Amino acid sequence: MHSNKRILVTGGAGFLGSHLCERLLARGDEVLCADNFFTGSRRNVEHLIGHKRFELMRHDVTFPLYVEVDEIYNLACPASPVHYQHDPVATTKVSVHGAINMLGLAKRVKAKILQASTSEVYGDPSVHPQTEDYWGNVNPIGIRSCYDEGKRCAETLFFDYWRQHQLRIKVMRIFNTYGPRMHPNDGRVVSNFIVQALRGDDITIYGEGGQTRSFCYVDDLIDGMIRLMDTPDDVTGPINIGNPNEFTIRQLAERVIALTGSNSKLVFKPLPSDDPRQRKPDIGLAQRTLGWQPTIELDEGLRHTIGYFDQLMKDDAA
Ligand code: NAD
Ligand code: UDP
Ligand code: UDP
Repeated sequence: MHSNKRILVTGGAGFLGSHLCERLLARGDEVLCADNFFTGSRRNVEHLIGHKRFELMRHDVTFPLYVEVDEIYNLACPASPVHYQHDPVATTKVSVHGAINMLGLAKRVKAKILQASTSEVYGDPSVHPQTEDYWGNVNPIGIRSCYDEGKRCAETLFFDYWRQHQLRIKVMRIFNTYGPRMHPNDGRVVSNFIVQALRGDDITIYGEGGQTRSFCYVDDLIDGMIRLMDTPDDVTGPINIGNPNEFTIRQLAERVIALTGSNSKLVFKPLPSDDPRQRKPDIGLAQRTLGWQPTIELDEGLRHTIGYFDQLMKDDAA
């Protein structure tokens, strides 16, 4: 049960980070969770506080961090367009300075380090589905660039530390993931639609809703993440992790309405600039390298997520 590994999770109080901390503790690891609570919260990890192998630390990864660990999962970075565009300079800093600090730490303590990269490195892709060898179609000066280019630069830093300093790196390109503990005001499409449907508010579709995304349930994603960290040292990635089932945003809205039984109506708002028109991972490499593929279909994952938001809204109203 006890693996005796000491693991740093940056961004550990966020949506994905909190699930990761939970899974690592369950398998016996010691977990140090570092977060500045920009989009994450103590609430996400409050059930872990007091666990003898869990430690929560308020820390901003754009500043150096001196700790002793065996592995680092670097997740610190706002992920929702609403949040990462709030202070775009800070977003680039968290990706770039954060990566430098965590790589410097990994170099000093000889830790293995995994980067939570993103399908956004492909931008508005002209190759579909996206394979890891596609270099992407990214606007370097648009409103999404702070996130996209920040994450691209972080990948560059990971591969340069690998080439230059022989660091053990794992680069994971995460595609749209949803589930319990997304922030209700997060701004991302799944949480927006569910909260709107549960409140009976209008469902806000940006553009005509013909743009596509492929939605992965959080449990599947975390399984892929841990499998990637546990691969032999010659596996560096980048590797896509996501669910290849592709839906239009309009189809997603219809599924959410059906599963909540809501009377909400669809309303159409302007499409933000540079919004990718299509996105779907090619997960062949993940299947071959990690023996991994998602197991939770959209309806099942949405049911869990709807249950979570329903309870959260009842608790907040009480
Ligand atoms: P999230 O916003 O819930 O979590 C991000 C966490 O990072 C939060 O707890 C936040 O407080 C923390 N953070 C932000 N800036 C920080 C800083 N300077 N120092 C320390 N902590 C900081 O988002 P998430 O969905 O859990 O995303 C986690 C990671 O996965 C991010 O790096 C994101 O880019 C990546 N990712 C997520 C998705 C997805 O669909 N969920 C897709 C692609 C990539
Ligand atoms: N760093 C850190 N913790 C450590 C070691 C380094 O946060 O345990 C940071 C430190 O801020 C440093 C950065 O990581 O500037 C990059 O480290 P590296 O050793 O690669 O470069 P250098 O120290 O030579 O700038
Ligand atoms: N979107 C939408 N309504 C919302 C929020 C998002 O139609 O209330 C759209 C958004 O324009 C994008 C897609 O849903 O086309 C996914 O958006 P999200 O912010 O979740 O993630 P990303 O664009 O980063 O994939």
